[in-house]
Amino acid sequence: MKRYVIDTAALASNAAIIRERAGVPVIAVLKADGYGMGIIKEAEILREAGMDFFAVTEPEEALTLREHGFLTQSILVMRSTAAEDEITKIAAANAIFTVGSPEALEALTAFCTQTNTTVQAHVKLDTGMGRYGFLPTQYDQLRRVYECRPQITVTGIYTHFHSSFGNAKETERQFRALTAVMDRLRADGIEPGIGHAANSSGLFCYDQKYTLDAVRIGSAFTGRIHAPEAGLQRIGYMESQVIEVRTVPKGHPVGYGAGYITRRPTEIAVVPVGYIDGFSVEKRRDLYRFRDLLRYVLDEVRSFLGKGKIFVRVNGKRARVLGHVGLCHVSLDVTGMGIRPGDRAVLEVNPLYVNPNVEKHYI
Ligand SMILES: *Cc1c(COP(=O)(O)O)cnc(C)c1O
Repeated sequence: MKRYVIDTAALASNAAIIRERAGVPVIAVLKADGYGMGIIKEAEILREAGMDFFAVTEPEEALTLREHGFLTQSILVMRSTAAEDEITKIAAANAIFTVGSPEALEALTAFCTQTNTTVQAHVKLDTGMGRYGFLPTQYDQLRRVYECRPQITVTGIYTHFHSSFGNAKETERQFRALTAVMDRLRADGIEPGIGHAANSSGLFCYDQKYTLDAVRIGSAFTGRIHAPEAGLQRIGYMESQVIEVRTVPKGHPVGYGAGYITRRPTEIAVVPVGYIDGFSVEKRRDLYRFRDLLRYVLDEVRSFLGKGKIFVRVNGKRARVLGHVGLCHVSLDVTGMGIRPGDRAVLEVNPLYVNPNVEKHYI
């Protein structure tokens, strides 16, 4: 038995904290299956919490929301695309387009002409992410999007921070680049629509400095961002059970590569959760800064020396993982803890990395 448990009350509490903190409308980012929490369930909880503006990256995600009864909410597809199949889907979902290049604009106006439709769009400005968006130097091309009425009605403009979790200077520069374009549009007699820039760390690391007219929040709903004071709860854990308890002698290897050798007769509990399920796969991520790289290398060295410690809670007590985490199993040291087969095991796993085949259980 294993399942991934999501506490809906905790998610609702995070949503309330985010709303309060933002003080402006929250565009709830539900990409990647709601950061692994389940897009529909998360959307339901957030709707209950009073949110009616969602954002996704895949056109299909917008369609999925519509199919599940989210008919009146605004849905922004945060992808500038010149691909006709994607444009067709975004229009079918009656979602808000992102236009971030002359090519995307051309493809969208061609679509509108061919199908005799009108659409809503937000303009994307690339202030340093290098993914989607007009460059600030492409102001004239950007302005053209606003001149495509009635086919395209622009109701917003946004940019995406590349380092709001750690680089205040760059974040400030990016923000100013966006507001400068908005000011210029206004000076040209064009209403830019709602401006939005802040993602989770853009909101939680800088108070309300970058909230503008709306914020786009994703990971903060999972509570898994660095904002110790905010009161966000970490959402999600893997729940399983001990299926086998055995005692092996001193000097016995445990796991692939004999990553651990017992130093005494050891009681081992086996829990059927491994990295295929998403357990212990996330340390490799987030190497953004040099200090992250150092931490990572140190962790790897310690793990190689058998000194890295990962724990699982069994019956509420901490039990150490012995050796390497296996594909489908972990072996735990439960010596003297009185652990029996059937005892409950709780494993820390970020919902983003949970294998979609694992059943989600909402409490
Ligand atoms: C993912 C994403 C967000 C949300 O970012 P978080 O840091 O998870 O809150 C906002 N905007 C864009 C364009 C994104 O791709």
